[in-house]
Amino acid sequence: MQTLRASKCGLSTAQLPSSILDVIESLTKAGYEAYIVGGGVRDSMLGLKPKDFDAVTNATPSQVKEVFGRRCRIIGRRFELAHVYSGRELIEVATFRAPPKKAVTSAAGMILRDNNWGSIEQDFARRDFSINAMYYQPHKGIVLDFCHAVDDIKQKTLRLLGDPLVRFEEDPVRMLRTLRFAAKLNFSIAPEILQVFKPELARLLGDVSPHRLYDESQKLFTMGHLERVLDMLIEFGVWKQLFADIPAQLTPFIRRAAKNTDQRIQMGKTINPAFFYAVMLWEPFLQRCAFYQGRGLPPTESRAQAGLDVLKRQATRTIIPRFAETFIREVWEMQSRLLNPKPQQIEALSGHARFRAGFDFMLLREKSGDDTTQGMAAWWENYQNLSIDEKEKAISAYNRQRAKSRRKNTATVDAEQDKTNSTQVEPLVKELERPRRNRKSRDAQTRKRSSDHSHSSQFESSTVATDPKAIDMDHPILRRKRVQRDLSHVIFGPTQ
Ligand code: ATP
Ligand code: MG
Repeated sequence: MQTLRASKCGLSTAQLPSSILDVIESLTKAGYEAYIVGGGVRDSMLGLKPKDFDAVTNATPSQVKEVFGRRCRIIGRRFELAHVYSGRELIEVATFRAPPKKAVTSAAGMILRDNNWGSIEQDFARRDFSINAMYYQPHKGIVLDFCHAVDDIKQKTLRLLGDPLVRFEEDPVRMLRTLRFAAKLNFSIAPEILQVFKPELARLLGDVSPHRLYDESQKLFTMGHLERVLDMLIEFGVWKQLFADIPAQLTPFIRRAAKNTDQRIQMGKTINPAFFYAVMLWEPFLQRCAFYQGRGLPPTESRAQAGLDVLKRQATRTIIPRFAETFIREVWEMQSRLLNPKPQQIEALSGHARFRAGFDFMLLREKSGDDTTQGMAAWWENYQNLSIDEKEKAISAYNRQRAKSRRKNTATVDAEQDKTNSTQVEPLVKELERPRRNRKSRDAQTRKRSSDHSHSSQFESSTVATDPKAIDMDHPILRRKRVQRDLSHVIFGPTQ
């Protein structure tokens, strides 16, 4: 272990928010060791703006609570942590952890508690990358470096602590973290990692809970270097593990959307990670629509059913929260409304809550060479900038054009679109009625069904489920075998 002067590492207290300084100082004054660790130290050393600052200490969570009183809340059972409020900010304070000795387990063997406090050396050994395992004491102005992490920072190298194969097997999410940090920091991946990180190993991601994978995918989408990481996801075989049905290669639309996402983040604009999911799953959605239409379902029903199917399949990889699923389906549905709007609804549509996202989506499609938008994205782009009079003229012109092309080819217009003359826009999607069942009843259901049926795995072979509540028997979610993984020695980051 080497003790480095913080100033030599480019660190100074002036860079730090008062909240983290306050937490470290209070713990130190109370007689405990306390450090900043993880991304806060790493990013500050690299001159980047850290997302957050995490603290680590030798005080147990209840001792932390004694120091901060009502400003502190102890969270988690399996991994107890202290949340300390400083001003309006929340700092996560973890206690040094040792490898698990005797964990408290449930009857089924699941680890319920793993609060085995340890030394700083033991805490260090449980972390993932060398650059994430530097301990910074801002008041003493020192950095504890147990593994020449500073050299890795200088050489821009991402190095796992310990044997990479063992560390990936312990927690496959570290594969995603490898790609995320390599892309975000523009670091090279150490050769010993590259030696084992093959597409076959990426299959281990199939054992990770779809909830955790959704969280990780969000971090990938929102780190500001999505365009760079996409190629890596394909190269390392992670792509197929994260998404159930996506094109084998990146389409110009996906690339453009990724670039656009990064640009928005750079400009400080908000982004909705579900938007990128809508982009990624657009092709499978279209294919599924065509499948249902081929079976004679009307377009609206085909779209509704296709949306449900595609998201249901995606849930076998990453569980997208219900509100995000609704957003995705609304963006997709908006595509046909924007392509072929009823003239009397145009103004209402432009004020619809989902208009912006639907329009952005269509514009990205059009700009990436998708001519099935028939130039309507440009039309809407222009429309939004017109005065009221000009808008009326634009609608009349659109109406005339539409009538002309309908005379030519009635098939291009959904017959059902013109049933009403209302200026109100009907709901884009019907909210799903099926409640999310808890795992117990889901498992029971699964067992019951699998005893009744035999399985087939192909997407195409699934029956036309006109009842949206019905889950096909060949659906992978019902065939999923849960692998119990011992994560007791894994350090979960604050957002996990
Ligand atoms: P950022 O917050 O910028 O995404 P970070 O490094 O702070 O990056 P977190 O997820 O916040 O990442 O985790 C905080 C720290 O916890 C990490 O720096 C690392 O030391 C440790 N950690 C997080 N996840 C793991 C893991 N899966 N295995 C081992 N250590 C981990
Ligand atoms: Mg962090």
